[in-house]
Amino acid sequence: MSLQKIKNYINGELVTPSNGSYIDNSIPATGEVYSLIPNSNKIDLELAVNAAESAKDDWANTSAEQRAAILCKLADIIDANSDQLAKAEAIDNGKPLSLAKSVDTYRSAANIRFFAHACTQFSSESHSMENTAINYTLRDPIGIVGCISPWNLPLYLFTWKIAPALASGNTVIAKPSEITPMTSYLFSKLCIEAGLPRGVLNILHGTGPTIGAPLVKHPKIKAISFTGGSSTGAHITQSTAGMFKKLSLELGGKNPTVIFSDCDFEETVNTVVRAAFSNQGQICLCGSRIYIEHTLYDKFRQAFVEKVSKIKIGDPLDKETQHGALVSKDHMDKVLSYIKIAQEEGGRILTGGKQFHMAGRCANGYFVEPTVIENLGNNCRTNQEEIFGPVCTLMPFDTEQEALELANGTQYGLASSIWTNDLKRAHRMAKNIEAGIVWVNCWLLRDLRTPFGGVKSSGVGREGGLEALRFFTEPKNVCIKY
Ligand code: NAD
Repeated sequence: MSLQKIKNYINGELVTPSNGSYIDNSIPATGEVYSLIPNSNKIDLELAVNAAESAKDDWANTSAEQRAAILCKLADIIDANSDQLAKAEAIDNGKPLSLAKSVDTYRSAANIRFFAHACTQFSSESHSMENTAINYTLRDPIGIVGCISPWNLPLYLFTWKIAPALASGNTVIAKPSEITPMTSYLFSKLCIEAGLPRGVLNILHGTGPTIGAPLVKHPKIKAISFTGGSSTGAHITQSTAGMFKKLSLELGGKNPTVIFSDCDFEETVNTVVRAAFSNQGQICLCGSRIYIEHTLYDKFRQAFVEKVSKIKIGDPLDKETQHGALVSKDHMDKVLSYIKIAQEEGGRILTGGKQFHMAGRCANGYFVEPTVIENLGNNCRTNQEEIFGPVCTLMPFDTEQEALELANGTQYGLASSIWTNDLKRAHRMAKNIEAGIVWVNCWLLRDLRTPFGGVKSSGVGREGGLEALRFFTEPKNVCIKY
């Protein structure tokens, strides 16, 4: 059987990589290689930059209303193709089809529609100096920008970056993860259908070292919006030092879930299970360190473990499946190695802990059981390092101060959730927790207008709403004397 060859999208056309070189793309649920990804290099990058350069002025001078109209059309086309996109995402990534449909493709269209509308509402500041002068701020597109995204929410995070970049008038060179390239390839076809002008968006496929690294260092690419691991973020920061690019870095997390005994018990258990294991625990916002007030610990542990042990693992394409495959064999091996480390550190596995084997089509798939571990200290590797899989730990605490110290006791600071009915305590915790995002009595409730991002090793800058439009524009102040 000949394998489908994914193509780059350069200057409005689907093209093969200049060197004719490809890498394998596998189905996580079966282990089978099913398509080939362009192993793009600097020649492809140069073609993309030239296309983006040629399109830059026209796109920047296209009115916000016209840009919004094209983007809204693209969002509608995504909606019209959502079944096909969701199935492609479930095959390529291993996530349950139901999740791909309700979260990934839904949000991909929503991202584009949201920023299409947002750019027509964007305004800049004016500062009056009483009787002396008036200042106004112009916000122009930056020019050519780079967008690099990871594999866990492939089209969702790809569009989350591209949409504000395009809406604010930039031309874009985008690189999806080489581990999940399929939906961004399908998306490039939808861009052609929507009538996105040539060169406005260019999508290059390939690995981090061969195409990601040259992309971030290209002198004509003036801003980089990156989502991925903290070590890659550090590498990008170092490799672009001295080039004075704008950088937005959305990086890893090790998010705390803090549960007080006055929480709404059932709602807390249900949502905390979802927070720990959605997308097989492969969401940067997943709550993997669960701190429970001592007085509630035994009751919570029993209800939580009972619910986790009932999560239905299965073929991602099966409607009933709640927990699919991990994204790759390498990633599965990494997650299993952390479960071993947890045991060596003295952790007690309450449920899960093993690779999950299935018969039939998925016999060679990369499935890992949802795993809950207790009896570990806060400073062990299991509780300090990002596992990014279906593994969480339970830890008791006695006081609010102790909970705060435990929650803040890692290098990461992306998201957090707090479960309590004490309003004052919720405010205190929200203020003092070291995280860019705090959910109180909820998780992953997203308003696209809000600032999104992390502190400490979880990132620099914020995405979402006006923050994203500000990132993708260059402010220029004009001061006019009266
Ligand atoms: P990764 O850092 O390995 O790769 C991310 C992207 O960067 C990929 O497209 C990859 O090809 C590219 N890349 C790799 N090396 C590069 C280099 N030297 N220069 C330029 N690009 C390079 O991350 P991943 O394994 O794909 O994704 C998982 C990580 O992403 C986790 O740490 C997770 O927490 C994080 N993540 C963060 C957020 C957030 O919003 N903060 C969201 C999703 C995922």
